[in-house]
Amino acid sequence: MKRLCFRGHSQIDVIDMPAPVPLPGQVAIDTVASALCGSELHGYVGAGFDGGNFGHESAGVVSALGEGVTSLKVGDRVGVSAIAGCGKCKYCQRGQYTWCSTWAFFGNMHSETYVTSALACHKLPDDVPWDVGVLITGDALGVPYHTSKMLAKYDVETIAVIGLGPIGLGHIIMQSYLGKKVIGVDIAPERLALAKTYGAWRTIDASKGTAVEEIKALTDGGVDACIEAVGKPQTTKQCFAAVKKGGVIAFNGEHQGPVELNVSDDFIRRDITAFGAWFYHFSEFQDMLALYRKGLPIAKLVTHRLPLREGAEAFRLFASGKTGKVLLTESS
Ligand SMILES: [Zn+2]
Ligand SMILES: [Zn+2]
Repeated sequence: MKRLCFRGHSQIDVIDMPAPVPLPGQVAIDTVASALCGSELHGYVGAGFDGGNFGHESAGVVSALGEGVTSLKVGDRVGVSAIAGCGKCKYCQRGQYTWCSTWAFFGNMHSETYVTSALACHKLPDDVPWDVGVLITGDALGVPYHTSKMLAKYDVETIAVIGLGPIGLGHIIMQSYLGKKVIGVDIAPERLALAKTYGAWRTIDASKGTAVEEIKALTDGGVDACIEAVGKPQTTKQCFAAVKKGGVIAFNGEHQGPVELNVSDDFIRRDITAFGAWFYHFSEFQDMLALYRKGLPIAKLVTHRLPLREGAEAFRLFASGKTGKVLLTESS
């Protein structure tokens, strides 16, 4: 079977290897579609991944069962969570795998076949197409949905999304669907144009260097909520500068190092709330499925589809910072 191998420094090869065999509690999945995630780019341009890839968003067909697996059968259509919990602790019992102290990450999903924990698989109903299956079981809707649940505790009418990679664009779709006035901020004209088609109220070209002033002008002095979906110190500081007094900031962007903040000025003097949101809770899948069935247009997020053998080209395109979600799939 074929697998993408990240050699490092933006080099990707397609390698041949024997199909992996599931260990006890695991299953093998024959991939129908896998999605590229912004979190893979650091390793893609950097040191690579020894013998494989960081692919962690996928849907496919169960092709083999490890010992003890009774919840799935060969032939089941599944969408796969990147994170699996132990299945036993109080968090896992509630479907909160990301809070499990022994959570495990499964990668290598840019492969014809990969193995994962049986606990990480959501059965996909027949009315869910493969691309939607990937989106609602991976980061693409998972992160925007999970973040939206946390934001729902606050009184938010206007919301700025800083960074319009697939996660940021997913927020545009999700928050627009919820009826918020969403401001999309990015430096790529292609992504600003996508945000418009996904329902953004306004878009701001951050390359001009006046994003904070423009957000404030649009929102009578400050936006109700900001979502940081880049992961850089300067965009983090922009969120604090653009949010109104009493406003809320959500962090999704993975930072490569610490950011210096002024607790007195950034938080205390202005009654600011900030929280982080990572991935989604396994138990939130049914809610996301229901939203899709009600008409959440999440499938629009996919802008490019390429076969696995063109994985190198797919990553080159994605790393250019101009696409929505890129899928590796033979299916249309
Ligand atoms: Zn991801
Ligand atoms: Zn657990």
